Amino acid sequence: MSDTVFGKIIAGEIPTNFVYEDDLCVVFKDINPKSQTHLLIVPRKAISSIAEMEEGDSEIIGHLFWVAKKLGDELGLKGYRLQVNVGKDGGQEVFHLHVHLLSNFG
Ligand code: 5GP
Repeated sequence: MSDTVFGKIIAGEIPTNFVYEDDLCVVFKDINPKSQTHLLIVPRKAISSIAEMEEGDSEIIGHLFWVAKKLGDELGLKGYRLQVNVGKDGGQEVFHLHVHLLSNFG
């Protein structure tokens, strides 16, 4: 597991309520929400960044967007934004890949 804060959350070292989880990813609320709904969709595999992904990671990363779609449906979000920050200069602070699901609804 990675030594990032998200690695610790996935490992259960930092107690966090999961909104959703499956074999490939976990979803939890952002600690500092930027929208009414602000979830983080995080693969269990410690891929540090899109910049470091390998071709074989495509299925996992595609799955994150499928989960975003399912949560958007389940939460009845009329619309939402999916954001992935890439690299320090791209605004990435936690180097364990994640998708932000942001919405003014929910
Ligand atoms: P990034 O800038 O890396 O794309 O986004 C990292 C996000 O993780 C930020 O929105 C920040 O608020 C969130 N975050 C950082 N530490 C924690 C934490 O310990 N718990 C939760 N739930 N979110 C965190």
